Amino acid sequence: MNLERVPALSLFSTEAFRDHWWIKLLCEQIGDVFVTDDGPPNGSFTTYFRVISRRSYGSNELLRDLYYLHELRHLRGFLRRGPITDWLAWQRAMGHSELDASVTSECVVHFLVPEARRAFEGEIWVDRFLRERKFQWFVGQTDLEEIGVLRSQLSAERIRALSTPTHNDYLEWQIHNYGVQNMRWYVIWAKPVRCGPCAETAAWRVVEEHLARPDWIERHADWLDSVSILPGGIRFPMQATAFAEVYRHSVDEFGNWPLAT
Ligand SMILES: [Zn+2]
Repeated sequence: MNLERVPALSLFSTEAFRDHWWIKLLCEQIGDVFVTDDGPPNGSFTTYFRVISRRSYGSNELLRDLYYLHELRHLRGFLRRGPITDWLAWQRAMGHSELDASVTSECVVHFLVPEARRAFEGEIWVDRFLRERKFQWFVGQTDLEEIGVLRSQLSAERIRALSTPTHNDYLEWQIHNYGVQNMRWYVIWAKPVRCGPCAETAAWRVVEEHLARPDWIERHADWLDSVSILPGGIRFPMQATAFAEVYRHSVDEFGNWPLAT
């Protein structure tokens, strides 16, 4: 199976990210990560089972670095999380993780790494805050406490958009749709994994039980094979296939494509 272990910082390709103190700090907190070039179905969240899927995003290196920042922020949160034994607690923890990763890679980053904004041509949601006078204090901020204040203010705005998007604001309806899409992902992961030694167990529980083992890192490659239909095939194929369909619908209904028409 194609599984490598690399330093987290090596995932970044632009100088803007690789040489930035805030990115280096995040990578130091994480250390090494598992990565793969195997292409999972669209939208498949392999980082949940601790494998970051390499993606190209064509020649948009900044967009690629934003993607890796998002996935690494998930990983950092997972490392700090305690054991979880019931689905509802798991679902809430995953929801928190998604909020944290999204606010980091779609909002906070644009205050701290200004070059990242060049990844996008049109308007993005965070622009409205980048333009506001009261947020100027946070541009290029290096004080971690102040960055925490920025994060909590943007998180509150993000939760509002997730729950009650402004009625005529497509960018906020996209955020709301991400929330709905994530809920569907949690439900899909409540279904049995359908392969390997724990075939009848809910997929989320199979992952949590594996990661609770002190030696999970040494066993990871073998375990990933055990939750694939064929050795080296797509991991958690039932969950991956079901979510690929959700993702396809989601892009059709609330994707970025109308912005380019
Ligand atoms: Zn995410």
